[in-house]
Parts: sequence; structure tokens; C-alpha cells
Amino acid sequence: MSKHHSTAMPSEGSTAVPGLVAGIDIGGTKIAAMLVDGSGRIVARGQVAAPARDGGSAMADAAAGLTRELLEEQDGVLLAAGVGAAGVIDHATGTVRAASATFVDWVGFPLAAELRERLGVPVAIENDVNAFLLGELSHGTATDSDVLGVMLGTGVGGALVLDGRLRHGPHGAAGEIGHTPGYSTVRCTCGQVGHLETLASGTSIGLRYGERTGEGGLSAHEVADRARSGDVDAIAVYEAAGRAVALACASAAGMLDLSSAVVGGGVSRAWDLLAPAIETALATDSPVSGVPLHIVPATLHTDAVALGAAAAARALVPAAPVREEPVVA
Ligand SMILES: [Zn+2]
Repeated sequence: MSKHHSTAMPSEGSTAVPGLVAGIDIGGTKIAAMLVDGSGRIVARGQVAAPARDGGSAMADAAAGLTRELLEEQDGVLLAAGVGAAGVIDHATGTVRAASATFVDWVGFPLAAELRERLGVPVAIENDVNAFLLGELSHGTATDSDVLGVMLGTGVGGALVLDGRLRHGPHGAAGEIGHTPGYSTVRCTCGQVGHLETLASGTSIGLRYGERTGEGGLSAHEVADRARSGDVDAIAVYEAAGRAVALACASAAGMLDLSSAVVGGGVSRAWDLLAPAIETALATDSPVSGVPLHIVPATLHTDAVALGAAAAARALVPAAPVREEPVVA
């Protein structure tokens, strides 16, 4: 198992605040963790390969082991841990309700309880897209108390914060805009037809380009490179993705009176290719409120999920009593 980690140099940034929380990003290929102090500063970070095929216990062992390893080099005490994990999460029980086939023995796995046992602190579990949005709100540029998060990755995930609070919904799937219909006539990975994901996921961008050109197997990144070189089919695929994302955000904004949406995931790195179609769509499909909808790219990139998980962990920690310095008589 390859692993590497690093610790912030003592000279870097402000003085560390002792109470630490861990933010853990559990994906299908890697587990990334960071320790965050009370001022929101990342004091240590590391990652290990995710043993997704070895089952839930192995994943929990790897996540807890990495966290303990990071803690060994710190003075501070761990107060709580948060996890952003792929799949549909039962927020009330900290259990995974549904996940892709990459994860063996993951559905039904009591992730929160298993990590609590291993780390000895309270544990919060969020879906990775929810954690991404919490991260962008706590450390990124998103500042609205009502905002939609859209993650354009292998699939398309969504998350929703209303009145400053993350909405989970009764089934843990609030904000899942990727699987809403009406964007195409193509079958989605979920089996239904026409979902936003069929145009806007990284996988779909490669597939749609292949259908237009007969050249399959390209990644979204490779299609982006071609678009920047003037390939009209590649440009059209990104235009379709941008327009679909904008219309989805506009629909959500109209429904919920949102004035901002933050878009992350690998596909959002090609913002230069998505933005023109987004602007065009917003010009004709603006919210009925008259307040313009702002669709902005995520700023934290790969750190967003772990930072959001750390924010969820911090929310579990009771407000610390004011520590008084001993008075010298
Ligand atoms: Zn779908």
C-alpha cells in the first residue's frame, strides 16, 4: 500500500489551535485525510490507496490508520472526525445505503460506528458531494446561505444548502440533480433516459464525443484539449454539457429561490469551455425572481471533500469553554 503524508512547517501560517478534527475523503481508489485546527488551518494531510475490494472493515481500518498516523506528529487532541464517502449515506445512522460496484461489502456498512470505535471520537458521515459543498462553503468562495452544489465527476452528483443548512432529505438524496430528466435521449448509468449526467459527466463527455466522431475511449480531459485546438465536435460536446448544467441550475434556482450554484469535479476544470454555454443559457433562462443566478466553478479542487468532512466534524464538537489563563496573585 503506497502512502505519503506531509505536515505543515511550524513557520507556515498562524499558530496551531490545539483542538483538532479530522476530515477524511473516502473514494474508490484512494483515501485522503487531513487534520484541521480550530482556526480552520490544515496542519497535516496524507493519503493511502483505498482497499475498496477488501470490504468495509478494511476501508475503515485504512481510514483510521491514516488518521492516527497523522495525529502522531501533532500535539493537539482529536475531538471528532468527519467523512465524505461515495454513495448514498443514511445520515441518521451513519450507514451506507447505496454505492457503486467498485465497493465490496460497503452497502449497509455502519461506517460511522466502525470509525467511532477505531478513533474513540464522534464521527459524522456525509455523502462526498454534500461534503464537497460544505467544503466550498467553509473554505471556498461559496458564501450564500442558499446554494446548489453540482459535482461533474465520473457521474454527476448534487447537494443543496438551504438557510445555511445542508439538506439530506428523507432518503439521503436531496439535491441529486444529476439524475433529473429531460436533457437528452441517451440512457443514463442509472438505467433511465435523458438525465443531466448523460451530457455533463466526465464519462459522458468521452462517450458523446465518440458518438459524433467514431473515436471512442477519450477522457473528458482529452476532449477538452481537442476543443481548445478548435475541434468542432469537442467544442459541441462541452457546449451541450455547459448548457445542460446551466438549465439544471436554473431549474433548481427557480424552484428554491437560489442565487448561486457552485460546480466542481474534474469536468469543471474545463471552465473555459463550459462558461460560454452557461452564460448563453443564463441570458435567456434567468430566474423569475429577477435576481441573477451566479454559476461559479469550485475553488478547492481535490481538498473540498476532506475540508467539508472536517467542517461536519467540527459541528459535532460542543463550543469550547473559554480557557482562562491562571492569574498570578
Ligand atoms: Zn440517471
